[in-house]
Amino acid sequence: MNYISTRGQAGVRSFEDVLLAGLAPDGGLFVPEVWPSFAPGFLESLAGRPYEEVAVEVMLPFLGDSISREEFAGLVRNAYSRFAHRAVTPLIQLDQKTWLLELFHGPTLAFKDVALQLLGQLFDHILAKRGARITVVGATSGDTGSAAIEACRDRDAVDIFILYPAGRTSDVQRKQMTTVPSANVHAIAIEGNFDDCQALVKAMFGDADFRETLALAAVNSINWARIMAQIVYYVAAAVALGAPHRKVAFAVPTGNFGNVYAAYAAKRMGLPIERLIVGTNSNDILARFFATSEMRKETVVPTYSPSMDIQVSSNFERLLFELLGRDGSAVEAKLAEFQATGAFGVTPSVFAEVSSLFTGTAVDDAATKATIAQTYAKTGNVLDPHSAVAVQAAARAKESHDTAIVALACAHAAKFPEVVTEATGVHPALPPHMADLFERPERIVTLPNDLATVQNYVRTHARIGKEGKN
Ligand SMILES: *Cc1c(COP(=O)(O)O)cnc(C)c1O
Repeated sequence: MNYISTRGQAGVRSFEDVLLAGLAPDGGLFVPEVWPSFAPGFLESLAGRPYEEVAVEVMLPFLGDSISREEFAGLVRNAYSRFAHRAVTPLIQLDQKTWLLELFHGPTLAFKDVALQLLGQLFDHILAKRGARITVVGATSGDTGSAAIEACRDRDAVDIFILYPAGRTSDVQRKQMTTVPSANVHAIAIEGNFDDCQALVKAMFGDADFRETLALAAVNSINWARIMAQIVYYVAAAVALGAPHRKVAFAVPTGNFGNVYAAYAAKRMGLPIERLIVGTNSNDILARFFATSEMRKETVVPTYSPSMDIQVSSNFERLLFELLGRDGSAVEAKLAEFQATGAFGVTPSVFAEVSSLFTGTAVDDAATKATIAQTYAKTGNVLDPHSAVAVQAAARAKESHDTAIVALACAHAAKFPEVVTEATGVHPALPPHMADLFERPERIVTLPNDLATVQNYVRTHARIGKEGKN
């Protein structure tokens, strides 16, 4: 399996290259050169099998010959051994036609663990083979940082530096980053806001000498391997509900479009998905696109679901590439138009194609809170605000009665206790494996919003080049 860039200028790359590079050198995102497709009888053969086995079967075609089946099965087992539920991503029935796919049983209680736990294993495996090290550098407003830290902690070949805005994350989010005792983990509070943190990371990647010396790597959601790992739970859920003999729809709370794009990939491989319902909060650029065929940027407003407070969804570029007939220069032209004018549209025929699979709906804060309250009253399930967007989007869907609708629960309610307590009257408790989070000792490192100081800190603490290993 080889990969090409959505901008068409990066040639063909192997899985290993794509894993380590993240972004393509032409500024595009990597996608498979050809979509693999399920052989006849493949979905039937997955019925009743454990998540880890389904994961190996679904992802194997994407790896090419870089990892053997046995090695990969070991990495997958390790990745999901830290999940608190045996089913890894269990399905819970909410009513006659609606299910909840719980993706929050990983170490940091958000769905990003599903992909990042595997990414950590893949990094270590490939770097060990190459005798190389990398230095992961990232910025976080909360969730991604802790998931990346848990994925990279204690890995021989990886050091990780995560910048977060001092005093601007929730207590749970900060403690998930600062209480990890591993020597290769560096959570750094920056005296600034999230944009400052992001600007520092961008500047470090932009410094060619620094980037090469430290072998900087990114773990943000544009990494193909994260998409690949997310395809698995769509397949597992659909098979559990009777695919290929039963139609299924997914309602996905969406920010950067990574999660719902993985569902599209599953559909391209042959999963019988009838509809993808894109749920947004008041930052509704995607809901407006699926209603009007025009992508038009507005300013970001804060909501109860901060991981979806996004206007420009970077992974949408991958869908656009398919919609424009895999024409990299057409993608580039659309994105240049978006950059210059804040908007772009698609033709009626492209819109008809996209509308045959996708719909979008925006769920504001009032509807989010009401959904948390109603779901608790009706079923006893306590939703986090992101999951509530999905459940509300599922409730608004107009699918036929024999279609099962699966709403994706992307975070544990205990990560967002304020709004959940307001809506239900119940304070959501942290699950057992995290119950002592507030007693764990923190290591707080605070640095000024100054590039030279931060670079110096990273250079001093990264292991690369210091132990005879490159
Ligand atoms: C990251 C995140 C999202 C958005 O997912 P995308 O792949 O960016 O669309 C939704 N909910 C939660 C809880 C998240 O952490």
